[in-house]
Amino acid sequence: MADSRTELSQLGEFGLIRRLASQVPFRHPSTRQGIGDDAAVLDVSTQSLLLSTELLLEGIHFDLSYAPLKHLGYKAVVVAISDILAMNGEPAHLTVGLGLSNRFSLEAVDELYAGIYAACQQYGVELVGGDTTASRAGLVLSISATGYAESERLTYRRGARANDILCVTGDLGAAYLGLQLLEREKQVFLENPADQPQLEGHEYVLQRQLKPEARLDVIRQLRELNVQPTAMIDLSDGLASDLLHLTGESSLGANVYEDQLPVHAKTYLAATELNLSPVTAALNGGEDYELLFTIRQEDYQTLLDQTTDVSFIGYLTNEPGQVNLLTKTGEAVPITAPGRTA
Ligand code: ADP
Ligand code: MG
Repeated sequence: MADSRTELSQLGEFGLIRRLASQVPFRHPSTRQGIGDDAAVLDVSTQSLLLSTELLLEGIHFDLSYAPLKHLGYKAVVVAISDILAMNGEPAHLTVGLGLSNRFSLEAVDELYAGIYAACQQYGVELVGGDTTASRAGLVLSISATGYAESERLTYRRGARANDILCVTGDLGAAYLGLQLLEREKQVFLENPADQPQLEGHEYVLQRQLKPEARLDVIRQLRELNVQPTAMIDLSDGLASDLLHLTGESSLGANVYEDQLPVHAKTYLAATELNLSPVTAALNGGEDYELLFTIRQEDYQTLLDQTTDVSFIGYLTNEPGQVNLLTKTGEAVPITAPGRTA
C-alpha cells in the first residue's frame, strides 16, 4: 500500500462516486445511461436478460490479512459473472454495493476498484452503477451482474438427461489448497511475526485462490462449435456439492471416474505438503469457478477434438439420488457434500 493516505471524508460520497465513474474502463454497447443518474438505462434486445447478485462480507468471505484489495475486487467480479456464464449467457453489466468503515482510505478504495476495473476490461463488462455507504464493521461488497442469452441457448441446472456426458473445465481443488496454505502462513505469522512465509513454489494454487478466472472463453467456444450444453452450473461450492445440485434438479444420478478428475501437478504438490488428499480437494474444495456441464453423446467427439481445457469425467444415469465416485480400485463410493444429502 502507498504511504499517502487520503481520508474518504475529504472527498465525500459524491466526490468518491465521481472519481470512480471517471475511471470506468469498458463501455457496453447496450448501455444508454451508466453511472450518474438515478438508475442505469440498458437496452434489452429480443434476448433473455440474466441477473445475479453476490454478497461478500469481510471476515466471512474474505480475509484482508492475506487477500490484496485489488485481487478481491477482481475476484468479486469473476464470482458474479461466473453465474451468468453458468446460464450460458454473455455477461454485460455490473453494479457494485460498497460498505466502507473509516479503516479504509481513498487509496484502499482505488486498489479495490483497480481490481474491479481490470476484470471489467478482461471480460468486456461495464460498471453501470452501485451504492456507497458507511459501514461499522469492515468491508461489505455486493456485486450484481447482468448478461444476455438467446432463450434457446439458456442452460439450466435441470436440463440434463440420462447418458449425457459430464464435463468440467480447467482443473479442480487448487483454490482450496491455496486457501489452506494462506491460512497456515497466517497462523505462523500470528505466532511469530518474524518468520518468513513459506509459499515459494505454490504460485499456481495461490493465484487460483486469490485471482480466479471465469470461463467466458469456454462459453464462447461452445457457441462457436454449436454445442448446446444440456445442463450447467459453476463450481463455487465444490464438485460434489454442485454436482448434487445438477443431478438433483435434473432428477438423475451420475457416475464420476476418479481417474478422470482434472487435478493440476501443483495441486498434488500442495496437497502432499499439507498432508491433504488431492481427490478430496477436487471433490469438496470450493471456489474453482470452473464450469460443470453435461452434453449429449453426439457432441462428445466435437469437444474431444476441438477443445483443450474440457475434461470428460463421467455420465448421467437414470437412477435419481445415485451419485457415485468410481474409484481407481473399481469401487463405487457415494459422493456426498457436507451439509446436504444426495
Ligand atoms: P441515489 O442517491 O439516487 O442512490 P447515489 O448518489 O447513491 O444516488 O449514486 C449516484 C450514481 O452513482 C448512481 O448512478 C449510482 O448507481 C452510482 N454509484 C453509487 N455508488 C457507486 C459505486 N460504489 N460504484 C459504482 N457506481 C456507484
Ligand atoms: Mg445511492
